[in-house]
Amino acid sequence: MAILGTAERPLRVAIVGSGPSGFYAADPLLKAEVVCQVDMYDRLPTPFGLVRGGVAPDHPKIRTVTRVYEKIADHERFSFLGNVMIGRDISLEELRRFYDAVLFACGAETDRRLGIPGEDLSGSHTATSFVGWYNAHPDYRHLTFDLSHEVAVVIGVGNVAMDVARVLSKTVDELRHTDIAQHALDVLAESKIREVHVIGRRGAAQAAFTPAELKEMGELETCGPAVRAEELVLDPVSEQEAQIDRNKLRNLELLREFAGREAGAKPKRSVFRFLLSPIEIRGGVRVESLIFEKNKLVGDTPFKLKALGTTETEELACGLIFRSIGYRGIPIPGVPFHDSWGLFPNVEGRITEDGQVAPGLYAAGWIKRGPSGSIGTNKPDSLETVKHLLDDVPHLTPCAEPSTEAVLRLLQERGVQVVSIEGWRRIDAAEAERGKAYQKPRERFTRIEEMLEVLGG
Ligand code: NAP
Repeated sequence: MAILGTAERPLRVAIVGSGPSGFYAADPLLKAEVVCQVDMYDRLPTPFGLVRGGVAPDHPKIRTVTRVYEKIADHERFSFLGNVMIGRDISLEELRRFYDAVLFACGAETDRRLGIPGEDLSGSHTATSFVGWYNAHPDYRHLTFDLSHEVAVVIGVGNVAMDVARVLSKTVDELRHTDIAQHALDVLAESKIREVHVIGRRGAAQAAFTPAELKEMGELETCGPAVRAEELVLDPVSEQEAQIDRNKLRNLELLREFAGREAGAKPKRSVFRFLLSPIEIRGGVRVESLIFEKNKLVGDTPFKLKALGTTETEELACGLIFRSIGYRGIPIPGVPFHDSWGLFPNVEGRITEDGQVAPGLYAAGWIKRGPSGSIGTNKPDSLETVKHLLDDVPHLTPCAEPSTEAVLRLLQERGVQVVSIEGWRRIDAAEAERGKAYQKPRERFTRIEEMLEVLGG
């Protein structure tokens, strides 16, 4: 029998998920001495994961990273199999018949929950759904956001919270020529929101957003930032954190500058608040107010401070709430899942079950380490996983049917219209063409059927 990882019998790896961590895993696999065939699966007909469906439309530079991924996709031993969902169209067990290893790079698709009363009232949304909606993600196209209220609240102070607050605070003219979904632009054009409150449960020094994103909030056309100077007074441990981490220091400088700005200089406000935990969302049918408990910070180790409730509460009248407290992975049938962490348990990318390595199964990106870091963080993360996978090659059980054609046949029998990389490129070109009418870089399709229609499906 031919040796696994040779030109005669390339190592066959299925990568599940086509976001940054998937492509950063594909690249070193294709460049390795071990000869690999990489088949990348995505449940959507379109690749690039959160670069397409998560990055804010007014941050086009970040999206240019897809050029790197397109180059990786050009490799002769790379195939894209879009519009195929593992666990629905093909089971993991079936997949393993065609691949020697399966690497999951499927990200964190859902959101964490606050677990407070009123969380599911109408008008209380997850940030992830709003982001998906304005980015034309097919899963969120049908949602409605009622922006007829004057006050909106974003819970959480990470970069997703910044994206949501910024999109809510910009004028339509500031967004018009981005690739934001037209349905979102139409709703935002009618928005009555005048105040967006962004709320952190810990202090200003612990905010997770980065200075570039915060700075933008001070540069919007019709919306000015507001900060309470007294909420920027730091305890000694927070002071230490700010001295160690330059981003934190820069955030504090910006927030102090915001606190010194003249109130009411612009018609809309983004209000940054700290040391407040939401404890209840009140309302009849829909959100009417949010109750917060004031917190103090406890602990004496930098970067380990915790928020502790003081029992003192505060009520904020609002009509709309976005919970932006982090993403969470979802299980795939047959793959071990750590429910409380929301990821696939693993040791440096080798998936484990009951503490034992599950042979042939690997993870990279958010489903491996949790939802943190920038796009670039995924490069070393995926490389670590790939190194282990390549080390394991001599111990892998070769799959029974080493053939991409065979998987494609099976999927075709099941009526699945698999989208290749060429198919994606036709969808891409059609979206760019649609964008011309709006002077946008693209107008995305919002339904999978529309995408498949481009391909004559
Ligand atoms: P994140 O950075 O982890 O921020 C989550 C926020 O939610 C934190 O402020 C956290 O506070 C808060 N939180 C968590 N549980 C909470 C609770 N029960 N009650 C109140 N607040 C709670 O997550 P993210 O904003 O979703 O972003 C995910 C990753 O994508 C991050 O690494 C981010 O930098 C990245 N990203 C980058 C960009 C960009 O570069 N422009 C854009 C979007 C996202 P604690 O700190 O107290 O836990």
